[in-house]
Amino acid sequence: MPIDHATLSVSNQRAQNITILGATGSVGLNTLDVISRHPERYSVFALSGMTQIGLLTKLCLLHRPQYAVVTHEQDARALQNTLLQFGTETLVLVAEAGLETIAAHPQVDTVVSAIVGAAGLKPTLAAVNAGKKILLANKEALVMSGALFMQAVRRSAAILLPIDSEHNAIFQCLHDGHARTLADAGVRRIVLTASGGPFRSTPLNAMNDITPDQACAHPTWPMGRKISVDSATMMNKGLELIEACWLFDATPDQVEVVIHPQSVIHSLVDYVDGSMLAQLGNPDMRTPISHALAWPERIDSGVKPLDLCDVARLDFEPPDENRFPCLALARQVAQWGGTAPATLNAANEVAVEAFLSRRIGFTQIAQVIGDVLDQMPVTAANDLETVLAADAKARSLSIRWLAERDK
Ligand code: NDP
Ligand code: MG
Repeated sequence: MPIDHATLSVSNQRAQNITILGATGSVGLNTLDVISRHPERYSVFALSGMTQIGLLTKLCLLHRPQYAVVTHEQDARALQNTLLQFGTETLVLVAEAGLETIAAHPQVDTVVSAIVGAAGLKPTLAAVNAGKKILLANKEALVMSGALFMQAVRRSAAILLPIDSEHNAIFQCLHDGHARTLADAGVRRIVLTASGGPFRSTPLNAMNDITPDQACAHPTWPMGRKISVDSATMMNKGLELIEACWLFDATPDQVEVVIHPQSVIHSLVDYVDGSMLAQLGNPDMRTPISHALAWPERIDSGVKPLDLCDVARLDFEPPDENRFPCLALARQVAQWGGTAPATLNAANEVAVEAFLSRRIGFTQIAQVIGDVLDQMPVTAANDLETVLAADAKARSLSIRWLAERDK
């Protein structure tokens, strides 16, 4: 995407108004931590949450945004009453329309897209269509609607900066950002690193005994429950492979996945001259968030510096797609394109939720997704309605899969 540095530095002269979609989550709270360190640079314009209304109330009292958005009418009324009692002027909006309003509001400079799952798609697209600077954590939105999403970015001249740590690392290693094609930039391939999750060495025959709490105990990154399960199944890396294809205009064959248990190298770019550039740092989301917030400048993130002697060694191994079939499914879907990624994503969301509520075992997550993909024809995804229809159909087939299994 073409980037106008002159415009960026002019707009840096006043505090940037930030909307955080998903402020009560792991990425949202990390973003607020960074913003709080730089009050002269950033001002919180709007925050959203869904179930954690107590936390959202505290965040509103602390940051005094102009808007807050919640999903349910009843929560909106209660939050508005509480905020009025404390004398704040925050206006509470509700549901998807509210999210789209705070994403596209003319006073907003930057939107942090940190809602989890398909629920983030429409508000993120609203920010894209309004030409905002978007810090993208919500990979599911891009996975579902990749071609449409990137077309909208180009049309509106929005600035799309990845804060998923791997993609942020790649962005940093591609010295011209997205300005050129990979071939023009002399890139041979992109290497996505993966921690391998908590079950990197667990034998296949022990995997169905895995509990939700074990799956959510990630060895290197503290995250929300859905992405933690995705990391444990390696679907997260599969979604990230698709995400990388769209962000960097790469084919699936140009994206390699390597297990790196220390999570110190966040990803790499391999150039045709034999150079390999990597971005290193402690595993802390405040680094990619700070990088994207301040880009093209650099600001303090609060992350402690990396002590290489403390790290001492960096290990690498190939992923085992036999024990982690979700990665193979995602790679297949990346090749198919069209509506297939939306189908994969929706089936995964339903299956992960079923695993977290102990309806299915860990290894059945991949079975649900594989069976739903088998039942869904892949069509071109030329408009949002088609993508949303594939999402809805995949969800209903997944729910049917669960119901039949419960019989
Ligand atoms: P969390 O579960 O911690 O937070 C999700 C946020 O979205 C919360 O604010 C939650 O509100 C809100 N939310 C959840 N469902 C809905 C919905 N249906 N409608 C509106 N809002 C909703 O997730 P994470 O912060 O871990 O992840 C957010 C996104 O960032 C995901 O797409 C993930 O893949 C991506 N990401 C996360 C990383 C991390 O380190 N956590 C790293 C890289 C990417 P509430 O909590 O109030 O219910
Ligand atoms: Mg990641």
